[in-house]
Amino acid sequence: PGCLWVVATPIGHRDDFSVRAVETLRSVAVIACEDTRHSRPLLMHYNIATPLMALHEHNEREVVDAVVERLLRGESVALISDAGTPLISDPGFRLVRAARAAGVRCIPVPGACAAITALSVSGLPSDRFVFEGFLPPKAAARRARLEELAGDPRTLIFYESSHRVAESLADMREVFGATREGVLARELTKLFETVLSEPLEALAARVAGDPDQQRGECVILIHGRGEEVDARVVEGQRIFAILRDELP
Ligand code: SAM
Repeated sequence: PGCLWVVATPIGHRDDFSVRAVETLRSVAVIACEDTRHSRPLLMHYNIATPLMALHEHNEREVVDAVVERLLRGESVALISDAGTPLISDPGFRLVRAARAAGVRCIPVPGACAAITALSVSGLPSDRFVFEGFLPPKAAARRARLEELAGDPRTLIFYESSHRVAESLADMREVFGATREGVLARELTKLFETVLSEPLEALAARVAGDPDQQRGECVILIHGRGEEVDARVVEGQRIFAILRDELP
């Protein structure tokens, strides 16, 4: 059989594309991607002329059999998603599972992943962490999920869409407490990249009051439950943040 190459693409900056990823995508028979219109500009920029086929969350079930059949016929297929590492809050799980079950070799070509990229500059403990992906969009389910995580000592990593980031941070402030440290990593590797770290009280208030912080793509990271932070330290950080914004 052919091989299924699982290839990471950039999460913003086009140069974050490995030489091996580009060579792999040039050499396979077909590239399965989420949205052909989205991927085409990136592939054209790298002179990758390989035919594309769509594999997204709404057709993954049907397309999997056809792709596995092609693999078993000896064709090599690459899987990419709109950005970052396939399968990480992106389609591909069913395909990889079916390919492996059929005895097809699956070869990773690693690269960018927003969760790991954010963690690497968050300043939060990185020895143990949990990736929670997207929270449920509805408030009650979201709070229930946060409550399950409130006692976890590991760093928590969430993906969130920009139009819900203020709401989610407000819920996190309620469930995890005002003093828990949170980090908002926005637009990583892009022009407006920002990484803010503050106690949740200040972070939730800042994002609620600044529409610019509610734009683009973002990762939210939360310090795991630890010893309670001294209230005086938190007050000091709050005053420092106010002064920092006011002073030249
Ligand atoms: N597969 C991707 C990965 O490896 O990171 C994630 C895909 S998921 C559909 C998209 C989410 O990832 C966004 O809503 C955001 O939470 C996060 N994300 C992707 N690119 C990002 C970036 N440049 N900066 C911050 N967050 C990003």
